[in-house]
Amino acid sequence: MSNILFVASECTPFIKTGGLADVVGSLPQALQKEEKLEVRVILPLYDEIDDVWKNQMEYLTSFDVQLGWRKQEAQLFMLVHDQITYYFIANDYYFTRKGIYGYYDDGERFVFFSHAVMESLRHLDYRPQVLHAHDWQAGITVALANIMKPIEEMKTIFTIHNLKYQGVMPLHIFDDFFNLGKEHIAGMEWDGMFNCLKSALFHADKITTVSPTYAEEIKNPYYGEGIHGMLRERSDDLLGVLNGIDTKEYNPSSDPNLFVNYRTARLKKRQNRIKLHEEINLPYKEGTPLYIIITRLVEQKGLYLVQHILDEFLEGDVQFIILGTGDPEFENYFADLASRYPDKAQAILSFDEGLARRLYASADFFLMPSKFEPCGLSQLIALQYKTVPVVRETGGLKDTVISYNELTGEGNGFSFANYNAHDLLNVLRYTIKIYANTTEWQNLLKNVNKSQFSWKDSAQQYAEIYTKLIPESIIG
Ligand code: ADP
Repeated sequence: MSNILFVASECTPFIKTGGLADVVGSLPQALQKEEKLEVRVILPLYDEIDDVWKNQMEYLTSFDVQLGWRKQEAQLFMLVHDQITYYFIANDYYFTRKGIYGYYDDGERFVFFSHAVMESLRHLDYRPQVLHAHDWQAGITVALANIMKPIEEMKTIFTIHNLKYQGVMPLHIFDDFFNLGKEHIAGMEWDGMFNCLKSALFHADKITTVSPTYAEEIKNPYYGEGIHGMLRERSDDLLGVLNGIDTKEYNPSSDPNLFVNYRTARLKKRQNRIKLHEEINLPYKEGTPLYIIITRLVEQKGLYLVQHILDEFLEGDVQFIILGTGDPEFENYFADLASRYPDKAQAILSFDEGLARRLYASADFFLMPSKFEPCGLSQLIALQYKTVPVVRETGGLKDTVISYNELTGEGNGFSFANYNAHDLLNVLRYTIKIYANTTEWQNLLKNVNKSQFSWKDSAQQYAEIYTKLIPESIIG
């Protein structure tokens, strides 16, 4: 059995800000159960992690982590949950804070985490053959694994969940946080800055990203976030593997967060919706389609397009709810919108997993007109709850949502191509027309019911990548 160590900054059910947590929380299960790999996960021990979990953790050991000229202590904890072993690295100074990101020293915090992961490898009775790091926060582990070789034969994979976030710092941190020879600067520098993501792209044996379309898009300047040159250089080792979702966890027939469980019945979705409207204080209007957005409130999610057309759209007989937190500009806009349309719109500006599930269960349409979208899990969760996605054709949205075609009867959602507000408005108007046409609507829902996005195929693809990397002599 091969040993794979996942390194990441978030993971369900312990800590989540977005889709990364869903992936790190569910892919190991699929790899372990279906591909017979021994997958373990290492994470920072944030203060935000609930005591329910902290109380179950076993203390393993403490050690010093050398960060340039400084030493910082790390404690290592372990927890087995659902047959997966999780390790947690604690340090009060770096991780006992509110929330998990957004501090001036985030770069330093995750460089510390990466050094601590390397040091942990000396203390664990577990020898990974592959280190699989996710996003920039874990990127430095890839570079250190390659340079310091804590385990000689260990290979590395780096998965890009979002290229926009790269962990960029002034170049002098190379001297402040590392004890490496100057010859290693070139592999960690990009555009005159220290760059955690670039360090991983330079050093990883293989690079993956979370959808085939995004894997192509990021080699071009529009989607390449200034680093497409590096991705082109490594294009022989760059692969897109579509994310799946945990279909047991996101299951409307058993989800305990819902008012009423259901398989496909619209009647039960309606029962959920009636109760939801009471919960969030928006009058329920029979017969109107409900459109929702659940997201981090950032430009990436196409919110400028939404902002541009929402007043016009709300002139029609529709209702709209948004759940999200993020940029104050968007929070203010949506709060104001809700106050201007008390009978039609509501904005809940918080992160609330339970409410998110009830929204997915109640809505007719899920809007995701992203500017770019590495994979997107929300549209997959929406489909799982029989809610029709309306997306822009980019990244993983393009790979998972096929626009409904009245002539062929094919398609599980709606889409538009250009990043243009009126294209979004046109497609939204078209959704109203299809919703009102019983035959077309029923046909579309049949396609939605058939959509499947479990981890099965993608876990197999990852297992193949690992197998190709591990020399046969050490496959256990
Ligand atoms: P990203 O990773 O870019 O944030 P994804 O679509 O891949 O986008 O994943 C987002 C995940 O976070 C989904 O599980 C979605 O339901 C969840 N989510 C986003 N915002 C909220 C919120 N305010 N409350 C609850 N869940 C949220």
